[in-house]
Amino acid sequence: MHIIQLIEKKKNGLPLTTKEIEWWISQYVLGAIPDYQVSALLMAIWFSGMNPEEAKTLTQTMVTSGDVVDLSAIESVKVDKHSSGGVADTTTLVVAPLVAAAGGRVAKMSGRGLGHTGGTLDKLESIPGFRIELSSEEFAHGVNTHGLAVMGQTGNLVPADKKLYALRDVTGTVNSIPLIASSIMSKKLASGADKIVLDVKWGSGAFMATKERAAELASLMVDIGNLAGRETVALVTNMNQPLGLYVGNALEVTEAIHILRGEVQGDLADLSLHLAGEMLLLGGNASSLDEGIEMAKATIGSGTALQAFASMIAYQGGDPRVVEDPTLLPQAKSIFTIESTVSGVITTMNASAIGRAAMLLGAGRESVDDVIDPAVGIVMKCRIGDTISEGEPLAEFHVNRKENLEEAVELFHRAITVGDTLRESESLIYTRITGDKS
Ligand code: URA
Repeated sequence: MHIIQLIEKKKNGLPLTTKEIEWWISQYVLGAIPDYQVSALLMAIWFSGMNPEEAKTLTQTMVTSGDVVDLSAIESVKVDKHSSGGVADTTTLVVAPLVAAAGGRVAKMSGRGLGHTGGTLDKLESIPGFRIELSSEEFAHGVNTHGLAVMGQTGNLVPADKKLYALRDVTGTVNSIPLIASSIMSKKLASGADKIVLDVKWGSGAFMATKERAAELASLMVDIGNLAGRETVALVTNMNQPLGLYVGNALEVTEAIHILRGEVQGDLADLSLHLAGEMLLLGGNASSLDEGIEMAKATIGSGTALQAFASMIAYQGGDPRVVEDPTLLPQAKSIFTIESTVSGVITTMNASAIGRAAMLLGAGRESVDDVIDPAVGIVMKCRIGDTISEGEPLAEFHVNRKENLEEAVELFHRAITVGDTLRESESLIYTRITGDKS
């Protein structure tokens, strides 16, 4: 077999066979095919797409390129949750305690942030002392005794994705439906959960610009999960503005604590309750989605969700007092208010630009080796549809260094459009996709 034949086939819109996909992935992981040829193949896939069979084969082949996690030491059904990536998307920090407090089991392997999107591990590491490196025994013990544990990926999980994702990142081939679906689902399948809830984002802060494309991606991921014997459900959700109001690591932990304490409502709280409801339904803890959502809500009222979060923090070496006093989290030296320069209605926000502005302040990484500052970021003071007057605050910038500040402010201002009226407002949840086609 020759890689050039595969490139030619894809270039002409023809499907690759199982053997061809298995050969390509195994040879690439071995280092026997150079990046420039795989780049050409990825670009041909970007243009020609893949049929569902090819995408499923690619996912399974990627899973078998490395280790597969064995979570059998964890009692009961393990339900995983994954977001396709967004800004101020702190749902994991809210959902995991909600589910654990309502009787579910959350064994979460999370990643770090890159570019404009934040990562759960970076957020948790802003809690003084918190350890994201656990042995598999510690991880299972944490889930069995506290109902939840979050750790970084260990071992050699899906090495094919590590290589392919790095190459996609620098060849303009990230936003391809079959490539995203196989990348995310291969990691989910290799992480060993029994069932999976997906939050697939659309809009200005997401990989998918339209809700229809996001629904297409979600359907493919649901099919891949179900075909692999892991019941999978997806919500397609709005990422046309930061989901929560806080963008940045310790800031997002603070917002999660506010929600778990029942002090804050809004999109982040609503979506977290929905996702928790889905997880409780899939895990067999609730008999309907509504019941799952109500169970999750009750854990906020009773304070048990906050307790679950505190016990996970303590178990993983962090200071649990942060749930009572979030000012124990790293704090930025200065806070600047960013004011509106015009009056009107906020009609659009470029969520990824707001994420990038936070990254320029030091809250995110441009490349994997960058060091983040846990204290800095942006606290939004407005939402789409709000009427604002000139001079009113749009946001607070929490800052430790002045470098890049001007650029971040400029980027932030350009990210927000003010007009006369809002033509239509988009719902938080566009659609729910399950494997049941009836
Ligand atoms: N997240 C992933 O893990 N992979 C993608 O391709 C896109 C988002």
